[in-house]
Amino acid sequence: MITRTAAELAAALASGETTSVAATRAHLDRIAEVDGAVHAFLHVDAEGALAVAEASDARRAAGTTLSALDGVPIAVKDVLTTEGLPTTCGSKILEGWVPPYDATVVRRLREAGLPILGKTNMDEFAMGSSTEHSAYGPTRNPWDLDRIPGGSGGGSAAAVAAFEAPLAIGTDTGGSIRQPGAVTGTVGMKPTYGGVSRYGLVALANSLDQAGPVTRTVLDSAMLHEVIGGHDPLDSTSIDQSLPPLVEAARQGASGDLSGVRIGIISEMSGDGWQPGVLTRFRESVDLLVKAGAEVVEVSCPTFVHALATYYLILPAEASSNLAKFDAMRYGLRVWPEEGASAEEVMRATRDAGFGDEVKRRIILGTYALSSGYYDAYYGQAQKVRTLISRDFEAAFEQADVLVSPTAPTTAFKLGEKLDDPIAMYLNDLATIPANLAGVPGISVPSGLADEDGLPAGFQILAPALADDRCYRVGAALEAALLDQWGGPLVPPEENLS
Ligand code: GLN
Repeated sequence: MITRTAAELAAALASGETTSVAATRAHLDRIAEVDGAVHAFLHVDAEGALAVAEASDARRAAGTTLSALDGVPIAVKDVLTTEGLPTTCGSKILEGWVPPYDATVVRRLREAGLPILGKTNMDEFAMGSSTEHSAYGPTRNPWDLDRIPGGSGGGSAAAVAAFEAPLAIGTDTGGSIRQPGAVTGTVGMKPTYGGVSRYGLVALANSLDQAGPVTRTVLDSAMLHEVIGGHDPLDSTSIDQSLPPLVEAARQGASGDLSGVRIGIISEMSGDGWQPGVLTRFRESVDLLVKAGAEVVEVSCPTFVHALATYYLILPAEASSNLAKFDAMRYGLRVWPEEGASAEEVMRATRDAGFGDEVKRRIILGTYALSSGYYDAYYGQAQKVRTLISRDFEAAFEQADVLVSPTAPTTAFKLGEKLDDPIAMYLNDLATIPANLAGVPGISVPSGLADEDGLPAGFQILAPALADDRCYRVGAALEAALLDQWGGPLVPPEENLS
């Protein structure tokens, strides 16, 4: 049961071969079996999930369903609010907070009949590339428990890789859906900015954040994207336009014909500093796309080399402002340094105890970049470079329908390896950050095992804003060609997990 894809589970539910209760219970059993080792979940809601599954089965028995994924269980990153279910954002400052409302993404999952298994682990407030910055301990990579599962959404990716959930929701501000996808051998899709509602997504950086699917196949991502996407009046940056047909694009791609599709290789993203095995798998994948009929061109995006620096000014600036609301008064933790302490003293003590080092680092950076004497030199300058990055994308998309690169420069590194070196940690997002700065969609699809330790790598496909369907079409074509070559999906060795 647990090794089935969401599309397969949906078909088994439709044919009456299984029930949502059986599928949900199988995943809850799997969580009980392996999550002690993986630690993908911060909260598991067995009771809630089974109640939704029962309702789904009853509906189906009465001849109705709410969506194509009705009854298929899912895990949700702990940065999206869930009514009645804790939401911590991986931070001590929100320990024990139970939101009074659902994020729009969560509401849409409920309205589509998906049982929510629980909330997944993440770097605190989505800051990180390894999930080691979670205040509740790291998630481990199912491919090798001594290695990181990527971040910040390592919990969602690991849950899906370890068959604890067929589907998960992640969020991607600089790569947190795609990079965990790459290092855990799963599929991760960051939709066009504004394509999926941010209402109830606890903001890291409003102008960059985007929720999206984490799955084991491209088709599953497209199915989930259709459930969560589309206009939401509660999010002022939500795009008031219907989604392109995503499932149809994935099915079309899976048929293996890419004739007429122009693929642009970003020349700035495949040279020095990239792990050789990751580049080899990347080039082989490009060859498969050519075999499927695509035309390949080389494109140059010279400002992308400044993307990381730009991001690490804009993100901390927005984050420092967003995190000001955690003031010991409104949510979660409240620390009294001494009896009779002033509000300011309580606030200071709470933020000192409640935030981890990486969060504090970014608040300081962001406050500095926004301070009146430095605003023009740092934040203002970064916004200008951001525009140049968008222009590079525009020019590149005149030459190619999609742009491709490896998703992350290396396979999964060891836990602890980069924890004390923030810059080394930041470098993991070299290839994923430009898409967030420009608001364009991007998917990471597994490209194969890329080193002597047998660890997976990812292939990134970027498309113009609102052309998310192209990510699915090309992604599904690549996936189909690779599955053919491998003779089936690559999965983590089961003995790792027991
Ligand atoms: N790793 C990046 C960061 O630390 C991306 C985070 C994200 O996408 N949420 O900011």
